[in-house]
Amino acid sequence: MFEILDKDVMGRICRIETRYGKIETPALLPVINPNIPFIDAKDMMNFGAEALMTNAYILYRTAKDDVIEKGVHRFLGVDLPIMMDSGAYQTMVYGDVEISNKEIVEFQVLAKSDIVVPLDIPTPPDADKNLAEKELKITLERELEAKSIVKDQLLTLPIQGSTYLDLRRMAAIEAKKIGGDIYAIGAVVPLLDTYRFSDIAKIILEVRSVIRVEPLHLFGCGHPMIFAMAVALGCDLFDSAAYALYARDDRYMTVYGTKKLSEIHYFPCECPVCVKFSPKEMMEMEKDERAKLVAEHNLYVSFSEIRKIKQAIKEGSFFEFVEKRIRSHPQLLSGWRKIKDHWKILEESDPRVKKRFLYCGIESIYRPAIKRHVEAMKNVEFPEVVKVSTNFGILAEIYLKPVFGPVAIELLESYPAGHAEIPEDVEDEAYLVAVENLKELMKINKKTKFIIYVDKKWIDYLKDLPENGEIHVLPGET
Ligand SMILES: [Zn+2]
Repeated sequence: MFEILDKDVMGRICRIETRYGKIETPALLPVINPNIPFIDAKDMMNFGAEALMTNAYILYRTAKDDVIEKGVHRFLGVDLPIMMDSGAYQTMVYGDVEISNKEIVEFQVLAKSDIVVPLDIPTPPDADKNLAEKELKITLERELEAKSIVKDQLLTLPIQGSTYLDLRRMAAIEAKKIGGDIYAIGAVVPLLDTYRFSDIAKIILEVRSVIRVEPLHLFGCGHPMIFAMAVALGCDLFDSAAYALYARDDRYMTVYGTKKLSEIHYFPCECPVCVKFSPKEMMEMEKDERAKLVAEHNLYVSFSEIRKIKQAIKEGSFFEFVEKRIRSHPQLLSGWRKIKDHWKILEESDPRVKKRFLYCGIESIYRPAIKRHVEAMKNVEFPEVVKVSTNFGILAEIYLKPVFGPVAIELLESYPAGHAEIPEDVEDEAYLVAVENLKELMKINKKTKFIIYVDKKWIDYLKDLPENGEIHVLPGET
């Protein structure tokens, strides 16, 4: 039911087969509340939706028999795969719901939902740990119960555990034992709303280190500013009620963050709404008319970002894409930098060969291509004496390059070192990592003498070299 078509960083383009058709991921599922019609479910295809999400709890309470009789697709009047959310969000907002897990799962089956979600308990961030553990235990029992009920549909198993990484890990291990078709990280919306992107990144990475291959959904994550980072960390599915919730408060989404409509003078967007109207015209409209237009824009910008991400994965430039996106908010930078601690899963997922390596900032140093280059250099055999130079005007066996460090001439034409664009005035970190890589190479080639010719700007970084090194400073400008 699931196939990986393309990979880059830890992101993927996958195909998920449902009973109602295929979903290509990364995918965003707009959330439809049938009782508050805002943008019609059948119009969602026009924005690029390949599947929808709706709420089982609300449908059960308000239109149970009708939904079971017609089936949820006909009830909503759409020709797309549908995922039902159990009502876990409602338990978070309104306290406990009065419907049992068994009832809500059976309802989803009878309603012919394509993707079924058990009634999990979304423990909020920073909850008491005993409570988080207790609620997680209940969630896992309900998942086991759902597994015995769901036969033909795809089953999503939510992974809870609040902000406790050990609980999230345990939840992922236990959910995997139960065996879902899709796994979903739950209760992250409060983290998103408060820009705690580091916590989100840590949770995704922890879960991804257990759920290595299967599709992963980030529940409630519907803001385009986080899509790139989340996909790059391994998320495949998103759902968005945010497009409508934000629109009701005149909040206009961009990939760089949210803006208040009243503070926008010029729309930074090419969608049909933003091309047709000016912000001033929209502010003068009736509230409902305006909200619908802002919601449309929010959907356009969200789906456009998903397409850009997919294109970047296809062309192998997803690192470059993410490293640009994370610059839109300091907390995104901080979130992305967590990949440093998860080198192993990143290394396993990221393709070994790409067209280019464009340096986009110090985060580029974390790319697996650099460590792989260092490994490749360990396999090169050197004579008793080798010449190393930072200047390509000097004939040498090894050239010293910021970010990569030593590059043997036989690797000068190939990816990554040979296909890298690095600015001349690159950050200190890029020199420091290069020197560390040189030192490592010198240590494992103890019997080789390294005669190193360097431009003046390298001198400050070349400290504490092993004894088999000899430095000559080249004349010229610093
Ligand atoms: Zn727009």
